[in-house]
Amino acid sequence: MGILYVVSTPIGNLDDISTRARTVLDQVDAVVVEDTRRAGQLFQQLGIRASFVAYHDHNERERTPALVARLEAGEELALISDAGTPLISDPGYRLVRAAHQAGIRVSPIPGASALLAALAAAGLPTDEFHFQGFPPSRGAAREQTIRKLANRRCTSVVYEAPHRLPGLLQALETEAGPEREAVLARELTKRFETLITGTLTQVRARVDAERDQRRGEMVLVLAGAPEAEATDETLEPLARALLRELPASRTARVLAAWSGRPRRQLYRWLEELDPG
Ligand code: SAM
Repeated sequence: MGILYVVSTPIGNLDDISTRARTVLDQVDAVVVEDTRRAGQLFQQLGIRASFVAYHDHNERERTPALVARLEAGEELALISDAGTPLISDPGYRLVRAAHQAGIRVSPIPGASALLAALAAAGLPTDEFHFQGFPPSRGAAREQTIRKLANRRCTSVVYEAPHRLPGLLQALETEAGPEREAVLARELTKRFETLITGTLTQVRARVDAERDQRRGEMVLVLAGAPEAEATDETLEPLARALLRELPASRTARVLAAWSGRPRRQLYRWLEELDPG
């Protein structure tokens, strides 16, 4: 049996490649990459020669069995993504899972990830956190995800595309309130690395005022909901009890009066509540 190495690569600064990652990438039989062109550039910069197998969202399903067969035949493969740690909002899940199912050893070669880099620099509580890789881009699914983020008690780390950032900040301000703390971590490890800290209103004002803050790669770190706030989680038992006696509209009114949260927002949440 071979080994599948899951190798982290830099998220900007090339010096963040580890010595172990270099050695493994240099020695394996093939490197499974998200994009052969980008991997080619990276390997050229690192001075490593390797043979690549393209593996991305569109061919994961069909390529996995052949890769597992190579591992079963004793080959050593390294899985990388375009940047950072594979499987973190990047391809690789199917391959890693299939390797485990086939009894193949999977070994991580840890390194950069925007998730932990942003969290470590944000200065918000880290004892418990939630990772939200790219929220749905639109519609009810997006609204629901944003509402859940606003209601979480722990810190959330969110990946978002630059053109959706202003909308995300605005929606979070509505759902979580203008005073909630947030940190926008942009272009980490790169030349224009910037961390904007403050309340959601302050972060949004800066993003609205400076075009550059809407450019590049970014992670939003959002503080958890304060203890005193009635969150979806804490309201749920009461909501369920009320729903057994009252229609959703009246339940929303009672909950709004009790919690101080907007009635419409509560009504939408009640409609989505799994009847359980
Ligand atoms: N696998 C990667 C990781 O471990 O972070 C993430 C890949 S995901 C396709 C790309 C997203 O990660 C970006 O849209 C951004 O949200 C975040 N990201 C990646 N590099 C970043 C950087 N240098 N600074 C800030 N965010 C970054």
